[in-house]
Amino acid sequence: MKLPYAEPYKIKVVEKLYRSTQEERTKWLKDANYNLFNLKSEQVFIDCLTDSGTGAMSDEQWAEMMRGDESYAGSRSFVKLKNTVQKITGYKYFLPTHQGRAAENVLFSALVKEGDIIPGNTHFDTTKGHIEFRKAHAIDCTINEAFDTSVYHPFKGNVDLKKLEKVFKENPKEKIPFIVVTITCNSAGGQPVSMENVKGISKLCKEYGIPLYFDSARFAENAYFIKKREKGYENKTIKEIALELFSYGDGMTMSAKKDGLVNMGGFIALNDEKVYKEATVYNIMFEGFITYGGMNGRDMGALAVGLDEATEFDYLESRIEQVAYLGQRLADFGVPVQQPFGGHAIFLDANKFVPTIPQEEFRAWSLAMELYIIGGIRGVEIGTILADRDPDTRENRFPELEFVRLAIPRRTYTNHHMDYIAVALKNIFDTRANAKHGYRIIDEAPIMRHFTVKMAKI
Ligand SMILES: *Cc1c(COP(=O)(O)O)cnc(C)c1O
Repeated sequence: MKLPYAEPYKIKVVEKLYRSTQEERTKWLKDANYNLFNLKSEQVFIDCLTDSGTGAMSDEQWAEMMRGDESYAGSRSFVKLKNTVQKITGYKYFLPTHQGRAAENVLFSALVKEGDIIPGNTHFDTTKGHIEFRKAHAIDCTINEAFDTSVYHPFKGNVDLKKLEKVFKENPKEKIPFIVVTITCNSAGGQPVSMENVKGISKLCKEYGIPLYFDSARFAENAYFIKKREKGYENKTIKEIALELFSYGDGMTMSAKKDGLVNMGGFIALNDEKVYKEATVYNIMFEGFITYGGMNGRDMGALAVGLDEATEFDYLESRIEQVAYLGQRLADFGVPVQQPFGGHAIFLDANKFVPTIPQEEFRAWSLAMELYIIGGIRGVEIGTILADRDPDTRENRFPELEFVRLAIPRRTYTNHHMDYIAVALKNIFDTRANAKHGYRIIDEAPIMRHFTVKMAKI
């Protein structure tokens, strides 16, 4: 008999979870104004709100915490991190920041002006937020297959080169400071971008003289998918694949809370000295001196180790196959999920799950509420609430896809937790015909409203 798969690690520290009742959760959710961001973590049994900063560090990372050098300038931990980032990305210059959006803030302060256009595959919400905050525009050039959850495409995060070239052709070069390619594409379902596509984007960018930056939060997961799905990469290591991918671009921003395997951190790495110098000024202004940029020395050390671990095949296999395990259990129950499964999360297709709830009543949001009530499981809406209002017309933007994302923290839950989630969803799916009404907004912020929006049941 072939030996079954087992995780390549064992557990040294555990954290107790409180098993609440449905009655308790119903009350807590009402008190939270039907916004899962307002819950206390003890009120959640399995937390799939995000995989950002929620993973478990290794013994090696904790050991590195003790070695952290907290010197204001020239910290040893900074040098360690800088060397690791250069080894993994190949980029010349490096700036630490306190998290991913801070890296965006610093880089975009140097590059983005009012009226600019920044094309890319579906921009992440903070990326879009930082673009629109500067009165610039993000243009989504993702391939059409990404918007149909039922078709199989191995690289649904790919950029449609025709759509991209149209943007390049129709706008003056000075209006397009760069293109941002998100690997993996979070908002399109944690879907990877192929090496072939990156090469194509790079070629087009060179033709039109436009820089290419990667939003790299999950670059290691993207490299794993390239290894598994793209011809010619089967025998390459994850580190070789990542290095090749980055070689086609000019730089990257990173949320280290994802594939950095740490709870907080971020950075920018890039080749252009002029942009680096400009970004340095903003880094010092917003983040801190260039050898810590908002991070403790010990955190930079743990990140250096984390980047090394995250780009090892064994780790990535356990991580991505756990996500696929949950996806497969749901698919076997007939629950509509984005296929192929994303690297960090399973996306429930609310348009197919609860078509009986009108889109104006936020159907994906409603499904996320139900999953919390039934199972104490916290997911997150990637739908109309997240899509926010159009900055010009202030109308709600109704996206083509209404998702509930179940993000799986790294090295944190076991497959029994995955089984529990799958059955909770099966039970909701079996009674879905009863779902007629959703929610309405009582109060919302002018930008990135999903974090604080107050809702009421209809
Ligand atoms: C998380 C994330 C960001 C923002 O990073 P933070 O660390 O949360 O500020 C940017 N882009 C992508 C693709 C992300 O997943």
